Order: sequence, then C-alpha cells, then structure tokens
Amino acid sequence: MSIASSSKISPSLRKQFCERFGDRARFDEPLAPHVAYGVGGPADVLVFPKTEDELSWISTTAREYALAITTIGTGTNLLVRDGGIRGVTISIRETFRDVQILEKKNGHTLVRCGGGVDKPAFLNWAVERGLGGLVFSAGVPGTIGGGIFMNAGTKYGCYGDILTRLRLFDFETGGREYGRNELHFGYRHQSHITPRTLVAWAEFSLEDSNPVEMRAEVDRIIEERAAKQPLDFPSCGSTFKNPEGFSAGRLVEKVGLKGRSIGGAQISTKHANFILNKNHARASDILDLIQIAKTEVYSKFGVQLECEVVVVGEDPYAQK
Ligand SMILES: Cc1cc2nc3c(=O)[nH]c(=O)nc-3n(C[C@H](O)[C@H](O)[C@H](O)COP(=O)(O)OP(=O)(O)OC[C@H]3O[C@@H](n4cnc5c(N)ncnc54)[C@H](O)[C@@H]3O)c2cc1C
Repeated sequence: MSIASSSKISPSLRKQFCERFGDRARFDEPLAPHVAYGVGGPADVLVFPKTEDELSWISTTAREYALAITTIGTGTNLLVRDGGIRGVTISIRETFRDVQILEKKNGHTLVRCGGGVDKPAFLNWAVERGLGGLVFSAGVPGTIGGGIFMNAGTKYGCYGDILTRLRLFDFETGGREYGRNELHFGYRHQSHITPRTLVAWAEFSLEDSNPVEMRAEVDRIIEERAAKQPLDFPSCGSTFKNPEGFSAGRLVEKVGLKGRSIGGAQISTKHANFILNKNHARASDILDLIQIAKTEVYSKFGVQLECEVVVVGEDPYAQK
C-alpha cells in the first residue's frame, strides 16, 4: 500500500521558513531517523529553533496559517504514525542545550538545564562533578524536556522529585516560569505541560555526593536494566503504564502474547511490556500489537491498559 501525505506548507510559507531558519527547517522530512522506534512518516516541516523569539515566530505563523504544532525530543517515547505529522514539528534537541550552575549553598547546587539536553549526558555531567540526585535516571534515554513532560522515572525516583523551577513556552501565550510549588507530578504525569507547551529549561537542586560511589551505582542500575530489558532492538521502553496494583508486562505475558509478531514488530520475548521494531516495522504493526494486547488483557482480566508511549501523527490507512 502506498502511503501519501499532503503537506500543509504552501510554497510561500516554505519560503518564509527558509528565510528565517535556513537549513534548520527541513521540509517533508522523514521522521523515522529522528525517533527511537525508527518508524513513522514525514513531518511537513521539522524545525530546530534556537531561541524563544524563534518559538514566538513559529507560534504566530502557525496561528496565522492554522497549522498544528508538535514537539518532539529524541522520540524515545514517541510512536509516529505512518502518515507522518501535519503542520510544524519542533525539535529543540540540538539547540536548547545549555547546562549552567546557578548557585552552590549548604551542600546543594542549583543547576539550570536546557530542555534539549540529553538525559544520559546530563547524568554523566552531574556524576563527574559529584552532584547527586539524578542516579535514578541511569539508563533512561531522551531529552530533559521529554523527561519532564512524561515525568520519566524508575523505581529509584523521577524528575519531579528534584525539579525546583521550570520555564515553559506556551504556543498561545509565550514563556513563563513556574516555581516548584505550582507544579504537581504523578506517575508518568505532570500538571502543567500540555502538547501546547514546550519545556525551555528546568532547574534542579542536586546535593554534594561522592562521584565514585555514584558512578558505581549508575553502572549497577544500567546492568540491572540490561538483564531485564530487551535493548538490542529499537523500542520506546515500556509500552503501557502499570495499572494500579498490576504490572503491565505481566498482564501481557499472562494472556500469552510474549513473542507475538505483526509485520516487522514483535512483543518482546524477554519483557512483554516492550514492543520491538525487529525488522523494518511500520507504525501500524506496532499499533496493531498495542490494540491486541489491550483487547486480550481487558477480556481476560478486565484491566484497561493505558499507553505510556505517546502516539502522534496521521493514520494513512484510516477510512476518510
Ligand atoms: C530503551 C528505553 C528505556 C526507557 N526506559 C524508561 C524508564 O525507565 N522510565 C521512563 O520514564 N521512560 C523510559 N523510557 C521512555 C523515554 O525514554 C522517556 O519517556 C523520555 O523521557 C522521553 O524523552 P524524549 O526526549 O525522547 O521525548 P519524546 O519521546 O520525543 O517525546 C515524548 C513526549 O514528550 C513531549 N516532549 C518532548 N520534548 C519536549 C519538550 N521540550 N517540551 C515539552 N514536551 C516535550 C513530546 O511532545 C511527547 O509528547 C525508555 C525508552 C527506551 C527507548
């Protein structure tokens, strides 16, 4: 089946993007190489803005031309449908990348970190300087912005635990800072960041710690994860959130779906909450496996599985 998408970027608008962003605006850009799963159709335009002024220009232009805006990080929790993303797709993973020490006081260091910074790089940066608090994130990929949007975390903690301040850019109203007590974080959930907002930077309070001990703990956690998780094929980590009182992976395993394949996608034989791109999968293969797992788990256990992976983009197979 051929997959057609119809870009919403007219030639004159294309010219405006080119004048403003040069090669930081890419048209009909295939998104598969930009996301961890390696699947998904093209973005009408993928832009790498450097400043909030540029974000404002994108917001105003998108409003004027009635274009949707979608933010992506490194796509480690993102499933882009095969039809791609209409409108403007923004990535700040190559641009909002400053890490600054703001203050050191009473054994604590306040650090401001750009939303585009890579989490493993930030963790390494902190460990090298003996700044503790981020060890929980060992082995979690993606950007800081994506991590805060998802309140990414592990059994050892989450970003909401150490965040002190946040700057959000709202595509309707512009930039604004939020103090810790204005924000609420839950399991893979937070209160203020919607698809209309972008995490420009976040501040964390990190405590003085022993770098050698931290490095050993990071290595231990990474080893522990590698023993349980199938890391040799592309995935988005956990497909489903754990329903209250249950392990999503166990439920999928108990309905006998470990190893089930559709097209190039497979429910991992090692950990049933991981769906892998084993061999040139399409997004639709992964989505079909997600649907089968939801249906089977609901019919056997009455438990509704909710996706942790964020699904975006156009379904080219949908009946119009
Ligand atoms: C092998 C593997 C293991 C993983 N393990 C874990 C784990 O242990 N714990 C865990 O929580 N997650 C885990 N994940 C999922 C993923 O790494 C995290 O959710 C990560 O925080 C996503 O970051 P990202 O930059 O890739 O965001 P993306 O996947 O690109 O985007 C995810 C969501 O965040 C939004 N977003 C991205 N950047 C921004 C921004 N700057 N501002 C506002 N919104 C933004 C996107 O619009 C999207 O809705 C794992 C993934 C993989 C592949």
